[in-house]
Amino acid sequence: MRPNQFVLRFWRILVYSVSLLVCLNLAKIGPQRCAAQTRPSTSVQAVRADPYTPHLPARAYAYHRANRILYFVGLGWRIIGIVLFLRLGASTRAGRIARSLDRKLTRKRSRADAAIRDEDTSVTARAPGLVEVSVFYLIYAVLMLVWMLPVSLCSLNIERTFGFSNESIGLLLKDEIMSLGVNCVIIPIIWLAYWLYTHRPKSWWLILWATLTPLILFNSIIYPVVVSPLYNRYTPLAPGSLRDRILALATKAGIEHSRVFVENTSLRTSHVNAYVTGIGPSTRIVINDTALRQLPDDQILAMVGHEMGHYVEHHVLIGTAVSVVGSLGLLALLSVLLPRLALRFSRSFRFDSLNDMAALPLVFLTLTLLNLAFQPISSAISRTMEHRADAYGLRLTGLHDATARLMVGFAERDLSDPDPPWLFHLWFGTHPTLLERIEFARGSSGQ
Ligand SMILES: [Zn+2]
Repeated sequence: MRPNQFVLRFWRILVYSVSLLVCLNLAKIGPQRCAAQTRPSTSVQAVRADPYTPHLPARAYAYHRANRILYFVGLGWRIIGIVLFLRLGASTRAGRIARSLDRKLTRKRSRADAAIRDEDTSVTARAPGLVEVSVFYLIYAVLMLVWMLPVSLCSLNIERTFGFSNESIGLLLKDEIMSLGVNCVIIPIIWLAYWLYTHRPKSWWLILWATLTPLILFNSIIYPVVVSPLYNRYTPLAPGSLRDRILALATKAGIEHSRVFVENTSLRTSHVNAYVTGIGPSTRIVINDTALRQLPDDQILAMVGHEMGHYVEHHVLIGTAVSVVGSLGLLALLSVLLPRLALRFSRSFRFDSLNDMAALPLVFLTLTLLNLAFQPISSAISRTMEHRADAYGLRLTGLHDATARLMVGFAERDLSDPDPPWLFHLWFGTHPTLLERIEFARGSSGQ
């Protein structure tokens, strides 16, 4: 074994071991381990006396920490997985298998193709066929699902340890496999991207964006009626005083035609939530059954008022429009970056050119890193819309006290971090912090 091979093998073993240890260690983080980490309380009695200041149980800090660590470990684990898939030659092998199956199934093997042996890795200037793209994507997606399974299991274990989930491993696996199937809609898009890159090397990204735009819009319309029901059951809110009060709120908001559904979220988690989804005919407000079970009526109305803010101000449509503009910038950036990255890494990642199927994981890796780099922009846009929904909900319902108590509950019951580290919040905070939302709810009522 040459010295550089030895170093490489040692490095691989080290990365595997450390990652596995971190994951296993995370899985053990529980309430018993966080007692020493409890923040010094200035005056517990004073805090308890103030119902608008979240009083966090000691285990809350361990929960916040475990989730933050798992987020970064999961991200690092994904990046390592993609790099190893490329570096160890799995991508090249998957590319050969996909090309070979494509030839057999489509029976289009030309005389020139026949001269090329299956193990040949010479440069091909042709775009991969649909079968080739499908086979390669499935191999990649299945291997990544298996690779990411420890992270998914750690996440489930944290939720179980802190009493938020009774989800079985069977249901988790079913969800993962279903998501893999749903994500296969990307296959024709990848095929088109390769075709355009091969035949229109200068304008491929612009044509791809023009094709993607109606698809992004279509996805937002059909998602709640086609994809969401694969995972959960949605039922209309049962008749009663709560539904009457919600309908009265909807009439006041000018959206009396709106639909309100209850989602059986308790199948997987006890966390409380509600959300607005869909565009046009599929727009709907969804309340988790966990919220109906755990919250008093005034807090449910405060939460629904916030969601009506999203509905009335068309935040889902705005979010989709932002995605469309963002995807244009992302594709333009990819058109500049990818040829350079391919030139730099094709030898070590064992592919010939960007036309090669085996280069696809490098595209996914670049997208992962770009998404992370631009996350603060999408988080800031999200925080702005969430603040506007808060303001609208308070104007609509007038439930300032219930809104503040709802936020306190998110911190005390659901263990959401009311005041996360500023850099983490800047990057990943999709809502204003709970402390800011409590202050806003109380301040805007003149209390
Ligand atoms: Zn919201």
